[in-house]
Amino acid sequence: MSELRFDDVTVRYGAGRRTTTAVDGVSLVVPPGEIVGLVGESGSGKSTLARAAVGLAPVHGGQVLLDGEPVGGRRRTAGPSPVQLVFQDPASSLDPRMTVGESVAEAVPRERGRTSAAARASARAEVERLLTLVHLDPDRAGAYPGQLSGGQRQRVAIARALAARPSVVVADEITSALDVSIQGAVLNLVRELQRDLGLSILFISHDLAVVRYVATRVAVLHRGRIVERGETAQVLGDPRHDYTRSLLAAVPSPLTGPLTGGTIDSTRTTRRPT
Ligand code: ADP
Ligand code: MG
Repeated sequence: MSELRFDDVTVRYGAGRRTTTAVDGVSLVVPPGEIVGLVGESGSGKSTLARAAVGLAPVHGGQVLLDGEPVGGRRRTAGPSPVQLVFQDPASSLDPRMTVGESVAEAVPRERGRTSAAARASARAEVERLLTLVHLDPDRAGAYPGQLSGGQRQRVAIARALAARPSVVVADEITSALDVSIQGAVLNLVRELQRDLGLSILFISHDLAVVRYVATRVAVLHRGRIVERGETAQVLGDPRHDYTRSLLAAVPSPLTGPLTGGTIDSTRTTRRPT
């Protein structure tokens, strides 16, 4: 299990007078094996922080640390990154011309010193393991993304991320493009992966209802700054900051009920959290 730590991180885009400070001095910890939620309206800097976690944002100040080591730092050994990012739109991370199996296989790190037949067999077994892990039938490995539902495509994207055997996953709006009827099932998968694999997860969403369902702690981002943070039940149940209150006010009423530790029954989810 790993700890992801943002230490006074500032990210700026552009130069000169057209500089945008998208993330402004953010310090945030995702403790080992925990799911931390990050909420905020569109443009508040959530995706920028997500990209900073994998070394893909122009970090202007501060640093992002994985177990105390800078991410993307020179001292990191070669191989797949221990921090993996999953995006909102699985279509953008999947090649439509590749089968599900090929897409997942491509993300599996190559083993050295194996004969090609043995390497192929072990890659096939790994693809099967990964598809099973995300509850996709390994028999669907021959299917193309276009033949899958949005929820199944997102499971493939998650399987690809898990191929790297990460210790931290940054999930950026991963249920936002999905039908409400299948959001619950993907959220249950997120909780299961945290529990079974000991993953530390930064779970980003503009949707307070989904964050409330998966995260034990939450931080509220407003114009690149964290304005409130704490236990999810406390922050969403008794917000201190006006901005958090305004976010909560935008959520339809069935979702503002008490926080439950239960499980969404994905066969009859009727929530409409947009
Ligand atoms: P969120 O994910 O919360 O919607 P983003 O991190 O995407 O927020 O964006 C935060 C701010 O940074 C916005 O003002 C956005 O316009 C700006 N921004 C994001 N990406 C870029 C980029 N590549 N170049 C310039 N500005 C950007
Ligand atoms: Mg975003």
